[in-house]
This record gives sequence, C-alpha cells and structure tokens, in this order.
Amino acid sequence: MSLVTPMVIFQGDLATAIHELAKCKHGVALTGAGLSLASGIPTFRGKGGLWEKYDPLVYAHIQCFLHEPEKLWQMQKELLDVILPAKPNKAHEALVTMERMKRLACIITQNVDGLHTVAGSLNVLEFHGNKRRLVCLNCSNRYPSERYLEQCPPRCECGAILKPDVVLFGEQIPIDVLMRSRSEASQADLLLVAGTSAVVSPASDIPILAKNSGCFIIEINPEITPLTGYVSDLFLQGPTEEILPMLVEGLQSKTNSDRTP
Ligand SMILES: [Zn+2]
Repeated sequence: MSLVTPMVIFQGDLATAIHELAKCKHGVALTGAGLSLASGIPTFRGKGGLWEKYDPLVYAHIQCFLHEPEKLWQMQKELLDVILPAKPNKAHEALVTMERMKRLACIITQNVDGLHTVAGSLNVLEFHGNKRRLVCLNCSNRYPSERYLEQCPPRCECGAILKPDVVLFGEQIPIDVLMRSRSEASQADLLLVAGTSAVVSPASDIPILAKNSGCFIIEINPEITPLTGYVSDLFLQGPTEEILPMLVEGLQSKTNSDRTP
C-alpha cells in the first residue's frame, strides 16, 4: 500500500505552506531534476536515457576531458542539443515571482541547465555549474556554450579545448558555492525542497543543516522520497510546475487580502 494517494493536494496543507511562506524571514529553495522535466529535460538515468548509451563515469569524468576531450564531447554534444533550446517552465517562473515578492532569498540548485537564471531568478547557487557556459582551463576565459555548434570540440581563443562549465566526475564542487549554500541553509527559516529527493551529497546536507537550525521544510515532489515524513514538515505531492504556481497564487491573494482594511 502506498503511503500517499497520488495527486491529492490537501487544501489544509496548501494553506499551511502559504502561511509559512508568507511569514518567513529567510526563505531558500533547493531544486533538482524534477523541476526541469516540464522543460523537456529528461533525467538522463534509467532505461533509454543518455547514461545508458554513455557511462557518465567515463564520458563525464575530468580524466576523460584531460586525456580524450573528443570523447567527452561526443556525450556533451548530445546533452547540449537537449539543454540549450530548453525554456523555463511554470515552476521556474513561480520561483522568480517568489524572489521578487521577497519570499525567497536564494535558490540552491543541482541542475546544470541554467534555467533558473534564464527565467530571471537573481540569487542562484549552482552546485554543479551551468552547461550554458564553457570554460578554458588554460586561461579561465568563459564563452556561451553555443560555441560548440560552430566547432566541436569547441576551442578557446588561446587554442585549448573548452570544458563545459560544470562539475565533472572527479572534480570538486566549487568551495565558494558550497560555503554559501551551507550558510544559506543555516540561516533559512523556510526551505522549499522542489523536484529533488536530495539524497546525493552535498545537496543532501542542505535539508539536514536547515532542519538542525529549526527551519520549516516544505517538500514538493511527485512521489514520496527519503525526506518525506522524516525531514520534511510538509509534503505537497505533485509536479512542481503545478504546485509552485499554486503557492504563488495563494501568496498573492493573501498579500492582497492583508492589504484590504
Ligand atoms: Zn584559453
């Protein structure tokens, strides 16, 4: 028996989430792959996924880039063909509105599609980098990823082959992003976990750090996760592109009714 009946949003839970969002002083969102599904970006794991064709531990490893960059670019080319044309969906847009309403101080994302920034969110911490940029490990120049369309593997002005500006296997998460994410999580009094089960480190530290600081945690996912009922104070079941706009709508009508004398 499933613990949760699929696709039932309890109005009471929704009202609680809106109430908590409306009163929080430092809201933070932690997002993952589920948020970009509606933008046509599949999770590359699983049957028929890109990771079945290309083992990421080989094709997305820093050693592969250093020694056989052409091989790394075989897989990267297919990834970029999917990611670059993708557009933000209603979930990304809802988070932009929450930031503008001063309900969110920042977004910590595990996604590398850059869609939060494309949508217009300003304070975004990208744990794993951004595939919309290329970086030169030789001279640190950065370029838009579209450069690969003209020449693949793409090259820097200095002649070196460019690397997608993401954290490859065998590379460390940038320390500044890690420190800032941890600091945001410790300060947060509300954490929205959306489209991720946050089981992979270091993202998995974020809900725990927040929880230990007494933060209220709202989880939005289509299925229950290891966080549900243990770390999450509230679970809203469903696709993020449906639930996040419902929260925004609730916040807006609450703000309007609070203003009415
Ligand atoms: Zn260079």
